[in-house]
Amino acid sequence: MTATLVDSFGRRIEYLRVSVTDRCNYRCFYCMPATGVAYGRHEEFLRHEEMARLVRLFAELGVHKVRLTGGEPLVRRGIVDLAGLIGRIPGITDLSLSTNGHLLERHAAALKAAGVARVNISLDSLDPDTFARITRGGDLGHAWRGIEAALTVGMTPVKLNMVVLKGINDREIESMLDFALARGAHLRYIETMPVGEAGAQGMEHYYSADAILARVRKKASAELIPVKGAPGAGPARCYRIGAGPATVGIISAISRHFCEGCNRVRLTAKGELVLCLGQDQRVSLAAALRTGASDLDLKDLIAGAIAQKPKRHRFAGQGACHPIHKMSVLGG
Ligand code: SAM
Ligand code: SF4
Repeated sequence: MTATLVDSFGRRIEYLRVSVTDRCNYRCFYCMPATGVAYGRHEEFLRHEEMARLVRLFAELGVHKVRLTGGEPLVRRGIVDLAGLIGRIPGITDLSLSTNGHLLERHAAALKAAGVARVNISLDSLDPDTFARITRGGDLGHAWRGIEAALTVGMTPVKLNMVVLKGINDREIESMLDFALARGAHLRYIETMPVGEAGAQGMEHYYSADAILARVRKKASAELIPVKGAPGAGPARCYRIGAGPATVGIISAISRHFCEGCNRVRLTAKGELVLCLGQDQRVSLAAALRTGASDLDLKDLIAGAIAQKPKRHRFAGQGACHPIHKMSVLGG
């Protein structure tokens, strides 16, 4: 029988987000400084087999959902092989990916074949100049083709994540919804969060979930009906738009925290287990892994770490800065 991981607040941990690299081909201003982040030495990062071993141990402890993220996961060499290794681990029934989409056209079919069933693609603007401004040089055409490729190979669902930024892309709240609905993709608006220095600076463009939802209601001339327990919704609140089948999601870490139902922990590319996006508790699994720890030792270490998972994040409010983590290291 598979064990279960339950934290000290009774939350069952079933979901592991694996940041496979700190590197990224974009520099979104709310996520990374313009100069990028200081990367570690190659040997500091977990190898494929090390990551797969840790994921297997988590699976034996009851985790069944894994999301590959980053930095940009598709810049990691051999990402398709890594996805395949993880996708074949018994007990992992839901393997997904978060990506900026830039390299997705090239990899979508192979990733799907490797077991990546669904994908979240960041898309903050449909205007090439705004897109390039937010990502500091990203090319909208690549992201667009990545989205089409994910849809073509049948990843389901394809979710589009838009970080809404006052004065930068907020005028696109409505057009982004049209874009997603026309493609059968699920749009999620995200409130910007003060994670890391870049995230704290991004708060100057904070746009609240309530204001976003009011705009969506007005555009649709319809009520937004909460969808309870939408599969894979995680921290997103999901709404049906009026009586129709269309849905939209919103992630609001600031105006409405979602910690009570938190079922996830994060593994960094260097093998640190981070217990909360907005608090500093973390445990190095790499150190034990690389000094000969047995599977049993590692499972004990993981269970002990889960017991330290804090009750809730500490984003105090707009403008609050939590510089301990970097979003590009944690993978969102
Ligand atoms: N590179 C991939 C991508 O952009 O989807 C995966 C990693 S990225 C860190 C994961 C998610 O975090 C993206 O949807 C991104 O928009 C979001 N994100 C990054 N910094 C953020 C911030 N300060 N506030 C809110 N969301 C943020
Ligand atoms: Fe890279 Fe994703 Fe961060 Fe943008 S949000 S800089 S694409 S890791």
